Amino acid sequence: MRITADRERCVGAGQCVLAAPGVFDQDDDGLVAPLTARPAGEEEPAVRQAVGLCPSSAIRIDEQPTSSL
Ligand code: SF4
Repeated sequence: MRITADRERCVGAGQCVLAAPGVFDQDDDGLVAPLTARPAGEEEPAVRQAVGLCPSSAIRIDEQPTSSL
């Protein structure tokens, strides 16, 4: 899993930080500041919850293929 966060879309609601505090933070302006682009596997459920809660669809998940097929 790889995540991208569009700070142009972010409205600073902070839902992502509440859902996945190990993956997302907010900067001094309240905008999303991902702590990592590649969350650990155990963070995936929280990341998916954060994506679902974000009111501005600012967070995206890019699923990575598990093989090179
Ligand atoms: S939940 Fe969405 S809008 Fe709110 S801080 Fe996170 S990325 Fe920004």
